[in-house]
Amino acid sequence: MATKFVLIGSGLAGGLLAAYLGRRGHDVDLYERRADPREGNIVGGRSINLAISTRGIHALEQIGIADEALCHAIPMRGRMIHDKSGALHFSPYDVDPKNCINSIGRGALNTAVIEAAQRYPNVRVSAPTSILIPLPRNSSRPVQKGPCRPQILTVK
Ligand SMILES: Cc1cc2nc3c(=O)[nH]c(=O)nc-3n(C[C@H](O)[C@H](O)[C@H](O)COP(=O)(O)OP(=O)(O)OC[C@H]3O[C@@H](n4cnc5c(N)ncnc54)[C@H](O)[C@@H]3O)c2cc1C
Repeated sequence: MATKFVLIGSGLAGGLLAAYLGRRGHDVDLYERRADPREGNIVGGRSINLAISTRGIHALEQIGIADEALCHAIPMRGRMIHDKSGALHFSPYDVDPKNCINSIGRGALNTAVIEAAQRYPNVRVSAPTSILIPLPRNSSRPVQKGPCRPQILTVK
């Protein structure tokens, strides 16, 4: 039976979950306070490039976008260590030199998962909207104020 889901945050987890739920036929509203990642500003102080490996690739395969997303990736087979004398030492990530992890841009990956979610007509992605989530009375964490059109979501 289709269930209604409201997801707050279309980062990597929110976008991917929206695609998974959409694929199962659930009704999904995805809210994000930042602008569309295709318009920039996705990084927000975090690393620009991420390292993606088997688990992440498996998650992308489940929604059929692994090949498409990995087009943007650069294989990383190890790290180069520069010692004090200036000599270089290569330290591989795996004993098998064919294996690698992949460097991928956060914006490209985030865009790919959101677009995968949007392929399902039952998934809707909001215009930039900041959701104010009521916190328990004894919580010391401040309520986060977003830059645009705040909405209050009552969590039951
Ligand atoms: C420096 C750094 C380096 C990293 N490197 C790697 C790496 O190499 N490989 C890797 O796999 N992982 C890496 N990570 C971890 C990775 O960034 C996180 O695991 C991943 O981003 C988590 O996804 P998420 O969707 O939970 O959160 P996020 O990607 O942070 O997405 C959360 C989204 O929710 C939105 N949001 C938050 N509150 C609200 C609200 N109230 N209303 C509306 N929208 C809201 C935010 O704007 C944001 O877009 C790194 C993290 C850091 C900090």
